[in-house]
Amino acid sequence: MSISLAEGIRDIPDHPSAGIMFRDITPLLADPEMFEEVITQFVAGLEGEVDLVTGIEARGFILAAPVALALGVGFVPIRKAGKLPYETESKSYQLEYGEATIEVHKDAVKAGQRVLLVDDVLATGGTARAGRELVEGLGGKVIGARFLIELEALEGRKALGDLPVTSLVTY
Ligand code: 5GP
Repeated sequence: MSISLAEGIRDIPDHPSAGIMFRDITPLLADPEMFEEVITQFVAGLEGEVDLVTGIEARGFILAAPVALALGVGFVPIRKAGKLPYETESKSYQLEYGEATIEVHKDAVKAGQRVLLVDDVLATGGTARAGRELVEGLGGKVIGARFLIELEALEGRKALGDLPVTSLVTY
């Protein structure tokens, strides 16, 4: 029996602001078969190809940590500014309104390590691109990105250039 992951995603109109259709993944996370299917699809073909998995706060953490364990490699959090306790590198990027900054610990990635980037949603690609730049700034090589959802109209793939990108549900 094949699982329809789209059935685990709930549409919330006007969240967090008017005119935005928010894709809520919490029903999927609450269903162990769907959750496991996401992780299975994320890791397909990556055994032995990745040294670290990085997830972007906050929903990226939920998906990236089980991917790291499934691949037998470590997990590195990329967090919003001011949250990480040790020395950090920062990257700021444009949002629709304003700016956001994300950070990673300076010693979290070693030169040459192969890193998989994981987040829940690829929208404009600004967040993932900033995450990629943070990892590459530490000398890591981002070998691919995995998203549960891709909002295709926002053309986030373009922001990631030649990076191999996989998404499981598209809108
Ligand atoms: P981007 O930087 O690609 O424009 O936005 C992606 C980031 O915003 C992701 O970290 C994601 O968590 C969040 N995001 C944007 N839209 C949605 C949405 O509809 N649903 C969820 N769950 N996250 C979203």
